[in-house]
Amino acid sequence: MMANTFLNILSNNCPHCHEGKVFDEKSPFLSIGFPKMHKNCPKCNYKYEKEPGYFFGAMYMNYGITVAQSIATYVIAQQFFTERFDLRIIPIIAVVIIGLSSFNIRLSRMLWIYMFKNYSV
Ligand SMILES: [Zn+2]
Repeated sequence: MMANTFLNILSNNCPHCHEGKVFDEKSPFLSIGFPKMHKNCPKCNYKYEKEPGYFFGAMYMNYGITVAQSIATYVIAQQFFTERFDLRIIPIIAVVIIGLSSFNIRLSRMLWIYMFKNYSV
């Protein structure tokens, strides 16, 4: 059950019918830029944005994910440098974070939708 939920989140599937796509794109995790979201599920008409500003909280989640990735990148990159605080690690972190930013926006919104789907009417 948990594995299914995880797969549905990664595939950007609708939390209600698990068939419609939440984002209006062909290759959900590869495109760059801010993702376009469907207002309602194309299959079951489930409304994703419950109210204006519904995804405000997802921004905090996105922030948390980004911080975690920065730390992980630092820990990995550090292995390749002799100095503990090599300044060259900073652009590496920047590239990783920019590369993952679009993925992170989707992931945080998907997590947000799935977290609160049980409380919706
Ligand atoms: Zn649906």
